[in-house]
Amino acid sequence: MIARPRGTRDVLPDEMEERVRAFGALRRVAALYGYGEVETPTFEHADLFIARSGAEVVEQMYTFEDRGGRILALRPELTAPVARMYSSEMRSWAKPLRLCYFGKCYRYERPQKGRYREFTQFGAELIGDDSTAANADLIAMAAASLGALGLGDIVIRIGDLRVLRALLGDRAGPDVMRLVDKKDPALREVVPDVADLILEPRMDEAREAVGREVTADLERLLSYLEGMGVATVVDIGIARGLDYYNGTVFEADAPSLGAEKQVCGGGSYDLGGVVGIEGLKATGFAIGLDRVLLASGRSGPRVGNLDAYVAPLLEAAMGPALSLSATLRQRGVRTEVGLSPERPAKAIKVALEKGATHVVFIGEEELAAGMVAVRDLAGKEQEALTAGEAVARISRE
Ligand code: ATP
Ligand code: MG
Repeated sequence: MIARPRGTRDVLPDEMEERVRAFGALRRVAALYGYGEVETPTFEHADLFIARSGAEVVEQMYTFEDRGGRILALRPELTAPVARMYSSEMRSWAKPLRLCYFGKCYRYERPQKGRYREFTQFGAELIGDDSTAANADLIAMAAASLGALGLGDIVIRIGDLRVLRALLGDRAGPDVMRLVDKKDPALREVVPDVADLILEPRMDEAREAVGREVTADLERLLSYLEGMGVATVVDIGIARGLDYYNGTVFEADAPSLGAEKQVCGGGSYDLGGVVGIEGLKATGFAIGLDRVLLASGRSGPRVGNLDAYVAPLLEAAMGPALSLSATLRQRGVRTEVGLSPERPAKAIKVALEKGATHVVFIGEEELAAGMVAVRDLAGKEQEALTAGEAVARISRE
């Protein structure tokens, strides 16, 4: 037997139902905030990511050469692809432009619960504006998205790379930024003077350390969000793994998830250099849906999804059973049909398991009389009806 590749997942019908519901909730939020959904290819030229996605992501990339000798990569994230799409297709569109997406991403990670090699992101990009107001608008949408997913205990942390870089000065190299990103206590040895501010941020102390002009945008953003009813906390120690972020950055955690608790990350960025535009002001975020669905903890035993179950009791009833099912479905009744002759008790058991309200039996007697037997699973009564009456009865209830 060939096993599933390490770090990938199979989504069974129950969980898929949860996913589809989550997608629906997110699409409703996106529409409320004026975002249009887009889709980009699963693979891109590797250069799109190598240029700016940051060392960690590039190390984790699935890169391959195609038969034409092109170096391609399975996308590790979607911000760079959406920026590429914007620059090739939408440059002349009125800005700001609000785009959102659902997509699988690929990273060669060490798999564990909540961390996979193939995972799904929902994200949004506000292109053409990276002002404090744009960030407030976008972060409010991120918060609404997390809220719509039914996550109660979310903490949204807001930082600003200009503040972080001012604190670190010329020590803001990749190694230190990686320690910051991981909130590594080793910071107390590497940058002892500012480690406390990074590990346990305080707005007033940060303002004192770097000056009011540097913290002004962050403070204004926090006050805008407060005015919008979005609860946040300040976190100077957000570094973000992707190198194209430049100002506002933010992350959201679901503490109930334990180690892999970060469910959302985003911020202002400039991908102009990568996609061939002089300066591209934008801000965006991505939510990791696999983790979110773990956090909402709703994937459980199978839930009902049928209205009617049509059971042929002998081979001659197969044709009538199939046509009755077709009519029921045309009337919007979710119907499953037994695919070979069944015993009534077995049909009732299957129908109950699938949450159906009615079972329709077609046996020898029914065939002879030109009728069907409709059993109401709640009331447990059974009635002989014509096919037309049966459809009317089941689709009305
Ligand atoms: P982490 O620090 O957990 O590795 P990240 O900073 O690499 O996260 P981003 O690049 O910001 O993550 O991606 C946005 C979101 O996508 C994350 O907040 C997380 O919920 C989700 N995500 C990232 N990597 C994975 C993965 N390997 N498996 C599942 N979800 C992931
Ligand atoms: Mg990561």
